[in-house]
Amino acid sequence: MTGEPVPVLRMLLREEHDVFVLRQRGREVAAALGMEQQDQVRVATALSEVGREVPRAEVTFAAATEPYPHLVIVLSSAAVGNHMLEGVRAAGRLMDEVRVEDERIVLTRRLPAQVDPERLEQAREELAASMPTTALDELSVQNRQLVTALEQVQAHRDELLQLNAELEETNKGVMALYTQLSEELEQTNQGVVALYAELDERSAQLRDANEAKSRFLANVSHELRAPVTAIIGLTRLLLDPRSESLTSEQTHQLELVQGSAADLLARVNDLLDLAKAESGRIEPNWGPVDLAAVFGQLRGTLRPLARPEVELAVDEPPAAGLVSDELLLTQILRNLLTNALKFTDRGTVGMGAWVDGERLYIAVADTGTGIPFAEQSRVFEEFHQVRGALQTGGTGLGLPYARRLATLLGGALTMVSEPGEGSTFTLSLPLRPAVPADGHDGEGPLPHVDRALVVDDDPAARHLLRQLLAGIADQVSEAADVRSGLAIAVRERPSVIFLDLRMPGGDGTLLLADLAALPEVAGIPVFVVTAADLSGFGPHELAHARSVVTKEDLTRRTVVDLVAGLGS
Ligand code: ADP
Repeated sequence: MTGEPVPVLRMLLREEHDVFVLRQRGREVAAALGMEQQDQVRVATALSEVGREVPRAEVTFAAATEPYPHLVIVLSSAAVGNHMLEGVRAAGRLMDEVRVEDERIVLTRRLPAQVDPERLEQAREELAASMPTTALDELSVQNRQLVTALEQVQAHRDELLQLNAELEETNKGVMALYTQLSEELEQTNQGVVALYAELDERSAQLRDANEAKSRFLANVSHELRAPVTAIIGLTRLLLDPRSESLTSEQTHQLELVQGSAADLLARVNDLLDLAKAESGRIEPNWGPVDLAAVFGQLRGTLRPLARPEVELAVDEPPAAGLVSDELLLTQILRNLLTNALKFTDRGTVGMGAWVDGERLYIAVADTGTGIPFAEQSRVFEEFHQVRGALQTGGTGLGLPYARRLATLLGGALTMVSEPGEGSTFTLSLPLRPAVPADGHDGEGPLPHVDRALVVDDDPAARHLLRQLLAGIADQVSEAADVRSGLAIAVRERPSVIFLDLRMPGGDGTLLLADLAALPEVAGIPVFVVTAADLSGFGPHELAHARSVVTKEDLTRRTVVDLVAGLGS
């Protein structure tokens, strides 16, 4: 076979009842080309549908190979036209394609396989030999086909009914399984809900107990402080050389009373500190921390506490640019160093610091008694002390307080200890305080400005302000000196300026004066933020500042309040 369709049979439709012959020939051609029974009926029916509407036509049956094996039937007649829509539409549903062209209709249907030339020749001969039958014969063939089709439909329907029944059965099974699973899930859920309720209740009880304890500690220590302070005052009065003279024994006894009262006061103060930290009443005062100064001060004040055979070695800390609470940090470190010096009778007590990523680590290590393994988890509990030769005084409140403060600063305090070898306490702190996720403590909406400018020579202070302005200013520009501060102010026209006073290369007051002299920036509100002692400044020098805040008072709250005040 070539690409061109190869004709198999030609016939002429002369009269109306020739349509039966067309039908029959169509079926025979389809059968001869290997089509299945069903497809034979399709071809035959399609032909009778279009044949009815083109009574006088020349019909060609051909086999084509391209692009796939298919049967092509062409009905040519001058009567072909658009009036035959119904028959063409019906045939279109039975064949792959039915085209109405100029004076001809072309019907195609895919063949199950290629027909080799030999078989084609044979088909052609058979078809030529077979005589067209009568209309009656064709009608009976058609009836038989109809009966077969009806039987097939019935069989399909039976099959469908059976499938439906099976599906229904399966559905019932699935539903039963689903119900069972739902019940189990519901039971599990009920269990989980009950468990959570119990947990909630337990944590509420714990919270209550904790609050009651803190309240008790705070009340008791307050109550104790007044009488103890009074005792100390009275003993001081009695021991005053200007008071009536006492016997040496009386003096000695009074000194003992005074010593005990001072001891008691120290413990009561410890209790009060802890109670305050626990109830969250200590709010860190964030600011740049001068680590070298903190380390230097601790080195100086604690050296006298070291026993003769103990060396206190405090390393130089790295320049970490730490932003934290210097006072609270000093308290934690003093506590750790005092403990280390107290429980070490020979060797070294050392303190060193290093930065790793966004955190600062400070370790206090000693070669002292160490802490027995069984006690290690308990030394952070309130009032817990380990029995031992070096155990004198103390309250057992130092470590829990230190850990509490570390948590307040966003850090952690951990310990490793080898009994008889020594202990190392490590404090880890974030280099910068974390800004709360919503950037605020939840009291109403945040104030807002488009752009803020921070002028400060200290990068840590600029960073702190940037953090404090998070969520308040859309953009924060920074300048390290007065000159670039003025340039940025003129260029960017910020909504607000935070200005440091003491800066190398030009005082902040110069910028205040320059800003006031330039009409385009004179209206920008300036907050002076300074660590400087303001007594050296005349009132006129700060006249153009909206307000003055000390660096110590610079908290998130202050910044929120300052910016909020701009609107009014
Ligand atoms: P205090 O020092 O007032 O007793 P702390 O809470 O500071 O209370 O410490 C609790 C206990 O932990 C101490 O009594 C001591 O037994 C133990 N401890 C703390 N630091 C050290 C250390 N560096 N070496 C050995 N033991 C320590």
